[in-house]
Amino acid sequence: MSNANNRSVLIAGASLAGPSLAYWLTKYGFKVTVVERAKSWRNGGHSVDLRGSTVDVAKKMGILDFVKQCDVQIDKLTVVDEAGETVGSLNIGMMVGDEEGRDIELPRGDLVRELIKLTGDKAEWIYDDYITAIDDQADGVHVTFNSGAKRTFDIVIGADGSSSRTRRIVFGDADEGKKYTGYAFALFAMPNYLGLKGENLSWNIGGKMAVMLPTEDPGMVHGMFAVLTDEPPKDIFGENSKAMDFFTKAFEGYGWEVPKMIELLRSSDDVYFDTANYIDLPHWSKGRVGLVGDAGYCPSLFTGQGATVSMIGAYILGGELAKHADHETAFAEYERIYRPFITATQASVPGMIFQLAPRTDEDVAKRNAVFRNPELLAGKERPAPPTVDLPDYSSLVVN
Ligand SMILES: Cc1cc2nc3c(=O)[nH]c(=O)nc-3n(C[C@H](O)[C@H](O)[C@H](O)COP(=O)(O)OP(=O)(O)OC[C@H]3O[C@@H](n4cnc5c(N)ncnc54)[C@H](O)[C@@H]3O)c2cc1C
Repeated sequence: MSNANNRSVLIAGASLAGPSLAYWLTKYGFKVTVVERAKSWRNGGHSVDLRGSTVDVAKKMGILDFVKQCDVQIDKLTVVDEAGETVGSLNIGMMVGDEEGRDIELPRGDLVRELIKLTGDKAEWIYDDYITAIDDQADGVHVTFNSGAKRTFDIVIGADGSSSRTRRIVFGDADEGKKYTGYAFALFAMPNYLGLKGENLSWNIGGKMAVMLPTEDPGMVHGMFAVLTDEPPKDIFGENSKAMDFFTKAFEGYGWEVPKMIELLRSSDDVYFDTANYIDLPHWSKGRVGLVGDAGYCPSLFTGQGATVSMIGAYILGGELAKHADHETAFAEYERIYRPFITATQASVPGMIFQLAPRTDEDVAKRNAVFRNPELLAGKERPAPPTVDLPDYSSLVVN
C-alpha cells in the first residue's frame, strides 16, 4: 500500500472519462495506469457536446481554446415529414436549454486524442489488454489481465463505457443498472450529398428516425437510423452484416432519402451499432473499485450529455480521491456531490426522445406542430439545464 499522495490507480478505458481522470490524478500525484482494450485509442463516432460546467472543466484542463477551435457549430435541427417535405427548424440550444456560449460540439476523436496527449507519459498506457479478474483485498486490488499479467493497485476505476466489463466483474451482472430506452441505432459515415451545413436533418415516423449530422469534414455527414424495439436486439451486435440487415429491414420501403441512406450504410466502412441505454446504479463503487462516465451513469445518447457527464465526473472523482486518503469517503463524496446532476440529466431522457425520436405517429404529429409553428414556444420557459457546482481542488495540485 502506498501513502495517500502517491497511491496507484488503474483506469480501464481510454476514451473520454478515462483520460480525463488520468489527467486529474496525475496532477494530484497519483501513479496512474490506463488499460484500453482496443489496439490503440479509438477514433470515430459523431460529434460530442461539452455543455455548461464542462466548459469550465475544459478551461481548468487548459484545453478550452483547443475545443473551441474544433467546434463544428451545429445550430439547428430541421425536421422533414414522412414524404420528405420540410416541417420546420428549431435552434438546438433552445431545445436543450443551453446557456448561451456554453455548448461546444466537437469530433469525439479529436477530443480523445487531445485528452490522451495532455497526460502523455505522466501515466502508463497499456493497449490491447483488459481486466479479467479483480480481487479486492485489504492490501490492495489484485488484478489479472487478459495478457496473463497480474498486478496490484490501490484503487481501480472502470471507465470502460456503457457495457463496462469492470461493472460486470464488480457488480456481477452485465446488465446491472442498464435501462433500455427502446431504441437501437446505427451510426455511419456517408457523403454529405445534400450539402448540409450547421444543421442536423431528421426524418421521423413513430418509432423510427433517420438523421444526417454534419461533421468537421464538409464533404461527409454521419447518417443515423434509430428504431424502436420491445427488447434490445442483442443478437445483431458484434457482426456488422447482421446489424446492417436488421436496419435495412426496419427502414426499407420508406420515402425521403431513406433508400439512399440504406445503400450508404451498407457500403460504409465506418459504422457503429448499439442500443441506446442509460445506466442507473444504486452505487458507483464497491470496495476499492469505482466507476466513472458511461460505465457508471451513462445518460443515453438522446441526452447528448455523454461527454459532459464523463468529463465532469472525472474532475469530481479525481478531486475527491485526492482530498480523502480513505477511498470509502472519497467515493461517498463523489456520489453525494455528483448524483443529483446525473439524476436530473437522466430525467430529461423521455423529453429528449419525444423531441428527437417520437415513439408514435401521434407524438410525431405533436412534435411537428411545434417545428411548424415555433411561436407555440413563445412565453414558455426554456428547460433549465441541470447544473453542478464544481468544487475547487486547485490546492491539491502537485504536478
Ligand atoms: C468508437 C466509439 C464511438 C462512439 N460514438 C458515439 C456516438 O457516435 N454517439 C454517442 O452518443 N456516443 C458515442 N460513443 C460513446 C461516447 O464516447 C460516450 O457516451 C461518452 O463520451 C462517455 O465516454 P466514456 O469514456 O465514459 O465511455 P466510452 O466513450 O464508451 O469509452 C469506453 C472506452 O473503454 C474501452 N473499453 C471497453 N471495454 C474495455 C475493457 N474491458 N477494458 C479496457 N477498455 C475497455 C473502449 O474501447 C473505449 O475506448 C462512442 C464510443 C466509442 C468508443
